[in-house]
Formats: sequence, structure tokens, C-alpha cells
Amino acid sequence: MTLHDLEETLPGLAGPARAPDASGRRLAALVRRDQLEAVRRSVLTAIPVNMLLGLASVLVAFQAGNGRAGMIWYAASTGANLLRIGLCRAACPGLALTAAMPPDMAAEASRSVEGHLRACTLAALLSGLVWAFLPLLCAGYTSPQTLFYLTITCGITAGAVTHGTAYARIPFSFILLPLLSAALCLFAVGGFDRACLAACVLLYLAALSRTAFQSEAGFREASRLKNDATTLARSRAEAQASANALVEEMRWRATHDDLTGLLNRAGFIQQAEARLNAGTACLLLLDLDGFKSVNDVYGHQTGDRVLVEVARRLRATLPPDGLAARLGGDEFAVLYDPAGAGVPYADLAAGLIAAVAQPFDGFDEARLGVSIGVHAEPEPNLMEMLSCADEALYASKAAGRNRFRLFDAGLRDCLEMRRDLERDLSHALVENALEVWFQPIYALDARTLVGLEALVRWRHPRLGWIAPPDLIAAAAMAGLTESLLRFILDQVCRMMQILRSQGLGTVRVAMNVSPREMAQIPVDEIVIGRLGALGLPPAMLEIEITEETALDLGAVQGKLQALSRAGIRVALDDFGIGYSSLSSLRQLRADRIKIDRSFVTGLSASDDKRGLVLAVLGLGNLLGLEVVAEGVESQEDLQTLQAMGCPFLQGYHLGRPMPVSTLEATLFANRTQAA
Ligand code: C2E
Ligand code: MG
Ligand code: MG
Repeated sequence: MTLHDLEETLPGLAGPARAPDASGRRLAALVRRDQLEAVRRSVLTAIPVNMLLGLASVLVAFQAGNGRAGMIWYAASTGANLLRIGLCRAACPGLALTAAMPPDMAAEASRSVEGHLRACTLAALLSGLVWAFLPLLCAGYTSPQTLFYLTITCGITAGAVTHGTAYARIPFSFILLPLLSAALCLFAVGGFDRACLAACVLLYLAALSRTAFQSEAGFREASRLKNDATTLARSRAEAQASANALVEEMRWRATHDDLTGLLNRAGFIQQAEARLNAGTACLLLLDLDGFKSVNDVYGHQTGDRVLVEVARRLRATLPPDGLAARLGGDEFAVLYDPAGAGVPYADLAAGLIAAVAQPFDGFDEARLGVSIGVHAEPEPNLMEMLSCADEALYASKAAGRNRFRLFDAGLRDCLEMRRDLERDLSHALVENALEVWFQPIYALDARTLVGLEALVRWRHPRLGWIAPPDLIAAAAMAGLTESLLRFILDQVCRMMQILRSQGLGTVRVAMNVSPREMAQIPVDEIVIGRLGALGLPPAMLEIEITEETALDLGAVQGKLQALSRAGIRVALDDFGIGYSSLSSLRQLRADRIKIDRSFVTGLSASDDKRGLVLAVLGLGNLLGLEVVAEGVESQEDLQTLQAMGCPFLQGYHLGRPMPVSTLEATLFANRTQAA
């Protein structure tokens, strides 16, 4: 493969400025450079011989009594030789020409090479001219020294051709004039044998010239092959280097986070696993507090800047051999060896919290914090360590912002319980081991049944009763959210059918839907479809959501609208403990608010609670919303709420959640009796 072929197959290598003919010119210039180098070497080797032969000629001239002419001739010859030596030693920028040189510099170098070759050719011609005057020392080849001078002339010209294989014009310029002058002199002397000798000299000139040009062609070909091979090797090396760089870049991208430059999840797992095998390590999982509002309020660009800055602070706070990664969103991970670094995990976690709490350019520092989950015990594998640290992070988040929490025995129990739940829940659903209980909701008189709230119940064979929030979380982890919702909806629909059959069609059944369920599954389609299929009136159903549902408004607004358009009512549960009560009322299209039981239980003995409940009742009146008080646990609280005019009441004092059979046996039976 030649340079040419290579550049055609790999056009990118040559660069945009190098068209194929340009590469041909570059190759020709490189050959010329090699020729000049060889010329300079060969002339410098040939000149001493030239001088010696010149000296011998002068000595013979002296001996023949022609010393003066000999001296003049030798002086001229020496002058020409010195000029040639000087030219061969003169600096030539063109010799620095390489295949990789930029085109403009290469053109400049090439011009300088050509100039030097021309100068050397002229100097060779001059030197040849001096040798053309050699017949003066032997009376034009008539004196007895003729044989000597003729031999010298032939010898020196043969030597010039033998040495000058790189660039034929130089030996040619050198030999032309001496051999022509010899032939002319011999012709001039006359006679058959001299004329024959003159003709032979001319033949000799032609043969030498041919040899010189053939040698140059050979030299050029060898040089071209050499340069081709060099360029090919260089291009291969460059291609290899750029392929290596590409591989390196791809490897970096696969293992690093583009935004922050920290390791990404894959890179972290890779490196952390190697560290775990090597010895002890402590894992910290970090989740920023309040990052979502930074994004919402200041935009994603500011959010990105904050993440970059957090990453920088993380690196600055970490011990030198610590690993830091961004696992996604606003979640970071750190792995280090506390013993090796001499930094206990509590100090590092406190340092990280303090680092993130520093003000950020462009917004109020009070908005950002970080929660940290720590796992300091070795585990059989990294995934296990990550889930333990995640459990600790979850607990730390639940305890409030800017804290860290160590994964301990208590959290291990929780984690194991959740895993058991996740594992067993799908069987429980299939085997109908789950139940839905109902808690009554009464009107102001505390006697008229106006609603039933469906509450899921699961008695785990080993763990006993499972708190509904744990069950909902386990369903989410096990990917069973939709199955669970469909199961509860079926029970709710069954209850609606029972109520209708009992002539209680005005009693509404409420069903809880968690923010995650609301955001992730098509609750509206499922619910409306099911009611339609069973021919149940949508007005009999109420969906209870919490204010947290408003956090992912984009994902839920359309579904809430669809439910509301279908005639299904929406109640805002646990009202008062969320973040954005008033705005969420509007955004979530609530028809009803359920005051959280923390404001209700014990309100008869608390002015504050009474004040709050009164305020919510006033708000309900003002906005035309129904208000339910949850958590009515005592007669005193009930009376206080009745005195305040709270229209709907729910709580253990009025009725606990109960299975359908109990409900039928007590509530409906009593009603029938009362009727
Ligand atoms: P929630 O929707 O606020 O449900 C009311 C919770 O308060 C129920 O707890 C109920 O048993 C309890 N409760 C009712 N009256 C009183 C009272 O007077 N005093 C006290 N201390 N508690 C009372 P439960 O059944 O443990 O449910 C807890 C939470 O779990 C529910 O709060 C709801 O957010 C969620 N949940 C329950 N069932 C479901 C369900 O089927 N789906 C979804 N997504 N969430 C559910
Ligand atoms: Mg509820
Ligand atoms: Mg509630």
C-alpha cells in the first residue's frame, strides 16, 4: 500500500487540506530532500579525492616545467572545491521537511531544497569547467604527460558518476565540460588514432551520463519506497492513536457522568467492587434536600450548575483515595476506607453536610441540604451494600433534612421485612390473602352513615398485620402497584353493590390512592372502566389523595380532571400536614378535605388544635369544600367538633375499620333494625 492508497482509504488521516495530488507533491518533495542529503554526503566524500588528483596533476605539471600554469589551475580548482564544500555545509531549512509538516511550511522547505540542488549543480559545473582546462597543462594532449592527464580526466569523471548516484545533474554538470574539452583537443591534434580516442571519450561521456541518470532513477525509487513506508507507518500509528483515544473516550463516557465528571452508576459499581474485594470500605449515599425546588424555581440550568458545584465540594471534602459518583438525579455516592483515611464516617458525613450547606451563587442557601445514609459494615456484595445504605438514606430523609443515618440492626430488620413483603405480596394477591376493611364516616349527628373509607389489610403469616403504607411501598418495589390497586378497586365496587342492595346508594365509598399510584398508573382509565363495566354510579366513589400528589402535578393533573369529569369525587386526605395546602386544593380539584387526625385527636383539650380546625372549616365554607374530621377518638372531641359545626366525622370513637362481614352484621343490621 502506498501513501496514496492509504490516504484514499483513510481520508480522515490526511486532513482536509491534503488532497491526493498534494500528497503526491509531498512525496516528490520528500524524495528531493533525500536527494539533497545524499548529494551533500557524496560531494563531501568526493572532494578530497578531487583535491588529491588535482595535486597530482600540479606535481606532474611542475615536473614538466609547467609549474606556474599548474599553480593557477590548482588555485582555481581549489576555489571551486571550497565553494562546493561551503554549499554542502550551508544550512538548508528544507532538510527539515517531513511528511507531517503543514502544507505551507512544506512548500517553503521544498523550495529551499530545490534552490540548494541548483546551487550544487552550478558549483559542479564550475568545478568541471576548471577540470576542462586541464589540457592546458599538457599542451592540449600533445606532451608526453598526455596519458597521465587523460587517465586522470577519465578517472575523476568516472568517480563523479560513481559517487553522484542521487542527483544526475550534478555528476553530469561536472563531467560534461572536461570530457568535451578532452575530445575536442584530441580531435584538434588530428590523426586516426586520436580521432578514434576522441570519439571514445564522447562515447564514454554518453555512457557515464546514462549511468548517472539511471542511478538517479534507482535512487528516487528507493527513496519513494522508503518515504511511502515511513508515511504508512506514521499514518498507521496515528490511526492507532486516534482509535485508542476514541476507545478511551468511550470508556470514560460509559463510566462517568457527563455533567459533573464524577463516576456514574456503572463506573461506580465497577470501581467500588474492586475496592470491596481489596478490603474494608464505608459507603455513603447522599440525596440532596430541596433540589427539586431549585430546579422548579431557578430552572434546569441553575440546577445543573448546583449539581456541578455539589460534585466539586464532594471531591474536595473526600479523603484522597475516596470514590465519588453521581448515581442519577440529585443522588450521589461515596465509598472510602475510614481506617486507611483516618476519618470516621460520622466526621465525613458531617463534613459533607456542612459543605453542601455553604451558600451557592445565585440563590438562597437555605434551600439546599443533603440527607445521607451510611453503611459501614462489609457485605458480601456491593448491591447489598447499596440497598443497606439506601435504607439508611430513606430513614435519614424521613427524619428531616441535613442528617445522616447509619444502617443498623433496626434498619436491617426493616429492610428484611420489606424484602419479605415484596417476596410474599404477589402470592398474597393471587391467593386472596389481602382484605379491604371499611371505616364509617358519619354526618354531624354522628349517627347518619354518609361514607365508608376503604383501608387495605394484610395479615402476613409470619410478620402479622402489615401497616398499609409498608404494604403500598412493598407493592411499588415489587412492581405490583397496579395489581394491588385493581384488587382494592374490586373490593370497593363490591361494597358499592352491597350498599345499593341495602338501599344505601347515597353512602359514598372512599378509596385511597397514593401519589405514586396516581403518577405511575392510569388510575382514571382503570377506575372509570371498572365502574362502567359494573354499571356503578361514579358519584358513589371518592378518591382520596394526599397533598404530595401535587408534587408531580404534570403527571396527575390530566387523570384528576378525567376522574372529576366522570363524576368521581376527589378528597384531599391528611390535610394540614403537607407543604402547599392552598395551592394544591385548586390544582388537585378537590371536592372535600379531610383534616389530618393529628389536628383532631385531643382537640377538646387544645386551643391550638381547635383554632386550626375552625380555620379549616372556615376555608371549606369559603371555597365550597366539604370538610371531614379524621381521628375522632373521644366523646369530648366529638362534642367539640359538633359544636363547631364540622359536617363529617370519622374516627375510632364512631367506628373502627372493619371487614365486610362485621359491617354487614353490625352497621347494616342495626340500620335495618332502626328502619
Ligand atoms: P388515611 O387514608 O388517613 O387513613 C386513615 C387512617 O387512620 C387509617 O389507618 C385508619 O385506621 C386510621 N384511623 C381512623 N380513625 C382513627 C382514629 O380515631 N385514631 C387513630 N389513631 N387512627 C385512626 P390505616 O388503615 O393504618 O392506614 C394508614 C394509611 O395508609 C392511610 O391513611 C392511607 O394513607 C394508607 N392506606 C390505607 N389503605 C390504603 C389503600 O388501600 N391504598 C392506599 N394507597 N393507601 C392506603
Ligand atoms: Mg384516607
Ligand atoms: Mg387521613
